[in-house]
Amino acid sequence: MMLLKCPKCGNTMKYQSMDGKIGNKKKRCVYCGKTFLIRQKIIKTLLS
Ligand SMILES: [Zn+2]
Repeated sequence: MMLLKCPKCGNTMKYQSMDGKIGNKKKRCVYCGKTFLIRQKIIKTLLS
């Protein structure tokens, strides 16, 4: 499970990658509706 931060509204949301890869995937923010590219810098891996 990873944590994404929306670059527009700043809200965070959980994201479960289907295959463990994050390259060139897009996620639609559930709060503001903005679609953004999932990049390493906006991902925090949840260790717990
Ligand atoms: Zn947003």
